[in-house]
Amino acid sequence: MTSLFSLDGKTALVTGGNQGLGKAFALGLAQAGARVAISGRREEANLSAAAEAKNAGFDLVAITADITDDSQISAMTDQAMSAFDGRIDILVNNAGICYHADAFDVTDQQWADVFDLNVRALWKTSLAVGASMRDRRSGSIINIGSMSGIIVNRPQWQPAYNASKAAVHHLTKSLAVEWAPYGIRVNAVAPGYVKTEMAPVDRPEFQRYWVEDCPQQRFALPEEIAPSVVFLASDAASFITGSILVADGGYTAV
Ligand code: NDP
Repeated sequence: MTSLFSLDGKTALVTGGNQGLGKAFALGLAQAGARVAISGRREEANLSAAAEAKNAGFDLVAITADITDDSQISAMTDQAMSAFDGRIDILVNNAGICYHADAFDVTDQQWADVFDLNVRALWKTSLAVGASMRDRRSGSIINIGSMSGIIVNRPQWQPAYNASKAAVHHLTKSLAVEWAPYGIRVNAVAPGYVKTEMAPVDRPEFQRYWVEDCPQQRFALPEEIAPSVVFLASDAASFITGSILVADGGYTAV
């Protein structure tokens, strides 16, 4: 019997898939049976993630692309499509950046950069991949939001990032409603603090806010967030669209 959670025969594209959460999502989707492509700006990092996956027994397609450039989104989508016989079933909009700069310090450039990648690139990638999903009347898009789109995290202020992730959550709902008639499901995963390059969770000065304030009293590892993405990608989530799946150890429940 085929498991509802199986992704056998499916194809997936994960943006920002060469490290941190994106790499864990790519490996999780591959473990569930999908053929997976990853993208990122650094070719070396992409190839190294693909080599790591190969050691674990999975072939990843590595695509070099800066998705703040529309022409590179289009080239990335074409490359993934041609690797996967013209079909991307699952899109994980994961690439994101964060600046720690408070409201009086954040520069116009930082504000623009955060929204350019976290919101605009996610939007344009969804359109590029969503068009063929619409034609096939099927697809699952998973946007990576954040608990920062729900609460304000301390003590490093990051208003641009917080606002961008709230925008990701609402864009998720907007696309879910608009694209439901096309058979496309659009959901988000909102992680709490996860140990990656973006979040310096080990620094002792953050212990109080980042660990002690979390009901589970710890941060997550990327592998702990990946199953949420795999679930939303799978047929087990067939009636779930427009949801924000919070994976934060209870942080936002307090
Ligand atoms: P990392 O900084 O470790 O990874 C970011 C990834 O995005 C890299 O693969 C990077 O690759 C890619 N990327 C950055 N800029 C671009 C660009 N212009 N075009 C294409 N790819 C790009 O971050 P995390 O793994 O921690 O975060 C992944 C996602 O999870 C982000 O959206 C983040 O906001 C979200 N998140 C993270 C949390 C955490 O605690 N870590 C908590 C909640 C949400 P390259 O440099 O090669 O381009």
